[in-house]
Amino acid sequence: MPGPAGADSPDADSLVALDGVTKTYQLGGTVTALDDVSASLDAGSYTAVMGPSGSGKSTLLNLVGGLDTADTGTVRVDGVDLGRVSETRRAEKRGTAIGFVFQTFNLMPRLTAVENVALPLVFDGWPQEKRLDRARDVLDDVGLGDRYDHKPAELSGGQRQRVAIARALAPDPSLLLADEPTGNVDTDTGAAIMRLLAEIHERGNTILLVTHARRIAEHAERIVHVRDGRIERVEAVERRRPYDGDDRDGGGPDARTGTGDGGTEDTDTHDGGDTDGHDGGDTDGAPANDPGAGADGSA
Ligand code: ADP
Repeated sequence: MPGPAGADSPDADSLVALDGVTKTYQLGGTVTALDDVSASLDAGSYTAVMGPSGSGKSTLLNLVGGLDTADTGTVRVDGVDLGRVSETRRAEKRGTAIGFVFQTFNLMPRLTAVENVALPLVFDGWPQEKRLDRARDVLDDVGLGDRYDHKPAELSGGQRQRVAIARALAPDPSLLLADEPTGNVDTDTGAAIMRLLAEIHERGNTILLVTHARRIAEHAERIVHVRDGRIERVEAVERRRPYDGDDRDGGGPDARTGTGDGGTEDTDTHDGGDTDGHDGGDTDGAPANDPGAGADGSA
């Protein structure tokens, strides 16, 4: 179990290690999305990155997930320096070692649940029957054993997110990345999704979750607070959220950590919409969390 210091003391033995990572964007001027960030995640840990909109959370997740590369510094996942390998190798890594769960689900609308979940296994070279078997098993695990043949439009928001989680888990990744996974579902459904993530963590997966909401971050073992592209501090969560479905008291007076940063209040006035240009619907193109570029849906 990582101590709070784990996040800012990169360690070559960690499952994830960022060292001196800077990422800037040029868009009518220079935007520094991440500024000299160092952090590490031990295998089996559950970490939330929390901060207001625009603080660099998604950029951090995208770098760890190999969707983008740092300007300076290193990002190592499972011993691989993602900035030093080819795009093909990075794609391979994110298809197998890293699972993504996004706020907008990013399911293929024309594919059934089982086909969506089987999709990453195509890139991992599994034969069709085996990948469909595996997809059914993982759907069973997330409680969707009775929805194999439903398309995303025939599923509720929570069910879609479960399919997305199953898809992320199908290749048995060592790391699960979740970007605002409850952002597009109602409160009760969000609580169920957080329970599922807790179960996945208890089974031994390493989870890195990004959220603006303290009540979500408190499900993790520790919270890495980011602001203006920098790690402000790392907090060990002393009273983790109970998985009892009660995620409604986000601004209640019973601040659970006593850290003096607003108790359970969210870090910004995020409106449930999204911060990175998605429109909340399923994608019908090649989604950002697809393990291979240009996926055409042939599961
Ligand atoms: P968060 O996830 O915390 O909302 P982001 O990582 O999305 O923050 O963004 C951090 C900063 O980088 C913001 O100022 C944002 O506008 C900027 N940014 C993110 N992605 C891009 C991009 N592709 N092009 C230009 N600026 C970007």
